[in-house]
Amino acid sequence: MFTEAQCLPISALQHMVFCPRQCALIHLERQWSENKLTVQGQQLHQRAHDSKRTETRSGIRIVRSLAVCSLRLGISGVCDVVEFPEQTGLPIVIEYKRGKPKSNDSDIVQVAAQAMCLEEMLKLDVTKGQVAEIRLFYGKTRRRLEVTLDHAVRQRVQQVAAELHEMFDSRVTPKMTYDKARCERCSLLNLCQPELLKPRRQTSARFATILQASVTDEQLTGEEAI
Ligand code: SF4
Repeated sequence: MFTEAQCLPISALQHMVFCPRQCALIHLERQWSENKLTVQGQQLHQRAHDSKRTETRSGIRIVRSLAVCSLRLGISGVCDVVEFPEQTGLPIVIEYKRGKPKSNDSDIVQVAAQAMCLEEMLKLDVTKGQVAEIRLFYGKTRRRLEVTLDHAVRQRVQQVAAELHEMFDSRVTPKMTYDKARCERCSLLNLCQPELLKPRRQTSARFATILQASVTDEQLTGEEAI
């Protein structure tokens, strides 16, 4: 069990899934760079948080900006919106995202982590079917995506949370690994500059080829001389 002071931000889980180096730069080294995508994301979140904090509509209690924490996982954060249908009383956690569903599971890990925090805080008995539901709302598609909080998703959240704590304990920022599709979307691209690795790698590879060729030439020359 962790203490509240040891809890790490749930948003860091999402960064960890996207790129551990980005996560360390933001949360360990406190570096942050806005790009168009992050600004759009913040505007969408702002709209979710701006309205009245709590209201009841059609038998559903809606709570906005709800602070959550799990001492078991050592994480804490704020849910965009949580709905509590009066019929079941079980929470439905809704996270707002710009764009559309991603190719990785970072959004699912983030909202699932929020839901697991709520389950722990509300002392829900998951073994008796008292399970939180999760939804992702994407600004571009304007649709809710329903995700089942099953065993595999729970395991994944636990794994990423454990990796995050490990990285924080080590205080080591992982080395950069260039991945065009990922890095070109990264808000820290200019700061990280992973593409600098690329030419160096190519140069090293070229030198290695030239060196290999010259060694082979020398060996051949030597053999011919004998
Ligand atoms: S630029 Fe690439 S390697 Fe660097 S932090 Fe971003 S995603 Fe990670």
